[in-house]
Amino acid sequence: FGGTEAGSEPSFFPSLPPLHFGHPEIHLRNGIMNASRLANDAEPDAEKAFFVADLSQVYRQHLRWVACLPEITPFYAVKCNPDPYVLRLLASLGAGFDCASNGEISQVLSIGGIDPSRIIFANPCKANSFIRNACKMGVDAMTFDNMDELHKVARTHPRAKLVVRILTDDTKSLCQLGLKYGAPLVTVPGLLAKAKELHLDVIGVSFHVGSGCYDPSVYSDAIARARSVFDMAKEAGFSFTLLDVGGGFEDALFEQAASVLTDAIHQHFPDRTNIKVIAEPGRFYVSKAFSLAANIIARRAPFSDSTTINENATLSDHPSVMYYINDGVYGAFNCILFDHQVAHPYVLSMNGSFHVPSSEPVCLSSVWGPTCDSIDCVSPKTNLPAGLRVGDWLGFDNMGAYTVCAASQFNGFEVSKVVYTLGGGVTAAEVRNNLLAFAAETRQ
Ligand code: PLP
Repeated sequence: FGGTEAGSEPSFFPSLPPLHFGHPEIHLRNGIMNASRLANDAEPDAEKAFFVADLSQVYRQHLRWVACLPEITPFYAVKCNPDPYVLRLLASLGAGFDCASNGEISQVLSIGGIDPSRIIFANPCKANSFIRNACKMGVDAMTFDNMDELHKVARTHPRAKLVVRILTDDTKSLCQLGLKYGAPLVTVPGLLAKAKELHLDVIGVSFHVGSGCYDPSVYSDAIARARSVFDMAKEAGFSFTLLDVGGGFEDALFEQAASVLTDAIHQHFPDRTNIKVIAEPGRFYVSKAFSLAANIIARRAPFSDSTTINENATLSDHPSVMYYINDGVYGAFNCILFDHQVAHPYVLSMNGSFHVPSSEPVCLSSVWGPTCDSIDCVSPKTNLPAGLRVGDWLGFDNMGAYTVCAASQFNGFEVSKVVYTLGGGVTAAEVRNNLLAFAAETRQ
């Protein structure tokens, strides 16, 4: 692993778990070895599933962001993964935060050292009490997409800085948010006129092309729509200063999306002297940073341990072995149901070894979560080594976005804990220095 040794740091933030350094793979293995020690001592729940979070990966994503979108300030979408270290790291890097609720606003402000102007309350349909609380906390920027919201804001937070969320094409995205939010362009003049009548300040426009956007060209059309809203605003007597391009950035398509976005902004907003451009990325920052290790707690197989795998069964397209692991769709893998993800298990350890011989035959298998519900299927069909047994460990990568944040304790299973690493290489030192400086600044 690049020669990086594992070790740990005294925590910069006493209230948080310790930070480790060394490649995340080392910490997946350390966690597994630790679990087997606990199992030998007959500790209950010794084989618990756990995440390894590599904060240096979050940092590398930020470097990518700054390189490709230097003019756009990211306001990280807290809902995607409100992990305390991720929030502190992004705060130390100067990011803002997209909060959807009172709870998220409180979490961000409780970190300390974050001015409320670094928060946008990006939920167009808010409870009155939440708007009132935002006012009390000094959070002024908030989105809206309907008349009722304007009346609510006029009553509860009359000095709010409103941002009109418009509808854009999200048909190419994993999660289509337009079904629920976004004002069609034809309704915008009416909304702006009502805002004027209520003496409210509307400062800009936002959109969201859908979470997990697979067609970066839609950003171009969305920017053209935002431009027309800037023009409508001028007509209505507002002078817009904020353009919020939302989230949806997919890791593999990021550079392409950034290029489409930059070209469109340059074309439609050639003069950006008084315009601040922000975005609300979520999954882009955290998806790759978290891996999950889960233990095989049970197995149902038609063959006894001593029988060699029957050729026909191996080749059939029906999984012949069922593995049950200790995290599932009611836990970290809720992303399968809510975020339309597909889990790709790989072997972390087998028969006490971290090495799987290449000669090991594979077998079509299915992987299930631990609850008693049959919907709790992690992978309906996957090839896994035929020799996998109870006690072996499976790994899952790209587990940082919309996973741990929505995990439940259904059936009494705990939400899997996170082990933190700064990763290996040069960026680890940079992450460490940023966190250290932030901890000193906020005296945590
Ligand atoms: N902003 C808003 C308003 C959202 O609803 C979401 C996701 O649902 C995001 C940002 C983050 O989107 P993504 O994680 O795809 O970047």
